[in-house]
Amino acid sequence: MRVYNFSAGPAMMPLEVLERARTELLDWRGSGMSVMEVSHRSKAFIACAAETEALLRRILGIGDDYAVLFLQGGAFGQFAALPLNFSAPGQQLAYVCTGDWSKKAVAEARRYGEVAVVADESASGFTTLPAASSFAVDQDAAYLHYTPNETIRGVEFDYVPDAGAVPVVADMSSTILSRPVDVPRFGAIYAGAQKNMGPAGLVVVIVRRDLLGKARPETPTVWDYTVQAGADSMINTPPTFAIYLLGLVLEWIDELGGLDAMAARNRAKAEALYSFIDASGFYSNPVEVGARSWMNVPFLVADPSLEKTFVAQAADAGLTNLAGHRSVGGMRASIYNAMPPEGVTALIDFMKEFERTHG
Ligand SMILES: *Cc1c(COP(=O)(O)O)cnc(C)c1O
Repeated sequence: MRVYNFSAGPAMMPLEVLERARTELLDWRGSGMSVMEVSHRSKAFIACAAETEALLRRILGIGDDYAVLFLQGGAFGQFAALPLNFSAPGQQLAYVCTGDWSKKAVAEARRYGEVAVVADESASGFTTLPAASSFAVDQDAAYLHYTPNETIRGVEFDYVPDAGAVPVVADMSSTILSRPVDVPRFGAIYAGAQKNMGPAGLVVVIVRRDLLGKARPETPTVWDYTVQAGADSMINTPPTFAIYLLGLVLEWIDELGGLDAMAARNRAKAEALYSFIDASGFYSNPVEVGARSWMNVPFLVADPSLEKTFVAQAADAGLTNLAGHRSVGGMRASIYNAMPPEGVTALIDFMKEFERTHG
């Protein structure tokens, strides 16, 4: 039986995508092989990667002035690749810190440069966003980095920070493809695939071409954006199966109506869940209303001793992976693109019943 999987990542995939992959698994495009057995240098796979990139460009609105890279090493690898590709030793790196992933990005960047944390929401326990005009960015900084959606505490920006002439770099791992993005406002965007794009093993990097050509000599070649942009991300074997599945996920998004349709669907799912939580005296969400994520919805029960029971009974009812991140406890429902509206309705129904029997 398929469950409604509320995991933060690797996360639920669209059922239609899994069924299509199953159909094609043993004989991909008439090759008599699975796509994962095909050479990445074959005509068929090169076409698959090019089609996937073209569809990503169309759906996200990525212009020719940006390179699209399919890399490995996750978003975490990019925490190091960013300073190596974009900054000279000693140059300032500006970071906005709104949660656990921002903190990890800062810690990794500190190994390579002079990090200035220009806004830090730790005082609120990472339940707030900095006001749009509340931080200044030194115009000598190599870039301004921020995390549009903090996956663990469920905090999502409703604006793109203004850094003047300094390029804005965003870790979109847990929000990419969930709503339209104004790509020209970014110097670079990156995202691990395993939340909204496909399986683990692929990280997509979108980088404005005028920022290429500045990698430090010690940059690992597989993470050198300039080298990879010049080699169609095939300096070595790319994650072929993950790229193929990203293509199927993009076709699924396209058939549903693209990012405007995804945004409407995601907004409706999130609003249903937050309004239920807010109206209840039994559940609560600690995040400031204007900073709430459409993708990750943490919630608490008044009596924390009920958390284990909640998570276990939910799993028995086919609603899995609702425990909060091990660092924060509580519960968390990750409701990425692939979570159907029926899954959120089923969760709300379960929460009502749990409150009735335990409240
Ligand atoms: C999941 C996640 C990461 C880590 O991604 P990996 O692919 O595991 O390296 C980084 N940033 C954000 C915002 C995430 O949600």
